[in-house]
Amino acid sequence: MAKVKWALMVGTALVLCTGVATAQDLFDLQKVADGVYAALARPRTPINCNAAVIVYDEGVLVVDTHSRPSSARGLIQQIKGVTDKPVRYAVNSHFHWDHAQGNHAYPVAFPKQVAIVASEATRENLINLGMQRVKEQIDNGPRLIEDVKRRLATEQDAAAQGRLRDELRQQEEYLAEVRSLELTLPDLTFDKSLILHRPDRDVVLLFLGRGHTSGDVVAYLPKQRVVATGDLLHGWMPFMGDSYPPEWVATLDALDKLDFDHIIGGHGGVKPKAHLRFFRNYLADLIAEVRRARDRGETLAQATTSVAAALAPKYDAGMDGRFAGSVGANIEKVYKDLEAKRY
Ligand SMILES: [Zn+2]
Repeated sequence: MAKVKWALMVGTALVLCTGVATAQDLFDLQKVADGVYAALARPRTPINCNAAVIVYDEGVLVVDTHSRPSSARGLIQQIKGVTDKPVRYAVNSHFHWDHAQGNHAYPVAFPKQVAIVASEATRENLINLGMQRVKEQIDNGPRLIEDVKRRLATEQDAAAQGRLRDELRQQEEYLAEVRSLELTLPDLTFDKSLILHRPDRDVVLLFLGRGHTSGDVVAYLPKQRVVATGDLLHGWMPFMGDSYPPEWVATLDALDKLDFDHIIGGHGGVKPKAHLRFFRNYLADLIAEVRRARDRGETLAQATTSVAAALAPKYDAGMDGRFAGSVGANIEKVYKDLEAKRY
């Protein structure tokens, strides 16, 4: 613990001296508007999500708490580099592990000052699914560690060995942390909207409908023209395992009606509003193409090939190099939903 603190303090000091983020920093803080920062997650094993950091007259609101409390503590340290105001609200955009498992860091750092905020559905998801998924990560951890060790044992290239050793260390640290994880639940929830009214800005938290999960919320800053969207809309390929695909398209259409310029998504870089149509159209085209493949009588394996080929020309280039790695899972999700006549 002392060592970690020391490392973070050195990191902060170097940031102040040089203005350049250091290796100890987990996030790159990018100013998006006055008092609004995107905390863009650097590569980690396993990943962290991005956060949005919104500084208002007497406090800070943070959207999303990453995959573990140590990451949230890291961000809290970096936030102290831009403001000495306390974090008063930590919002969970949805219940997924890489967005909510760091919650506990906030009441520890700001006792009796901070509320953990989410939609009521997200709180229920954390109760019903969150702890179960923590347990799955603990159960799967040793296998993932053994897998990296096996790859390390056969790797000849020195640079690749170094990367694998780093990955191994991060996996082991993560497993140790998640084994003692306290999953702190949101203590302030809402159904449709919750507005923080401040003299210099309103922060509008909105549930616009089901999408990536049953409880996604966005944080909208009308004056600063920014929206923080979690995994409802981001710069990577969508994960669709807990999603409601046609409703997701409709929810993004509702989001499109808001007036904003910048999107701070849960993963990838800050995007212009135009990215919303691209991401929304990917989901709509995915559903339409899988439907067509099924109408042609294709099996899942055949549809996986044909739909990926149909979508690639339009979408491969805009998905941060992640199209090929995820499109198969997305096709399978929609194929099985259609098979079950969910829509
Ligand atoms: Zn997610």
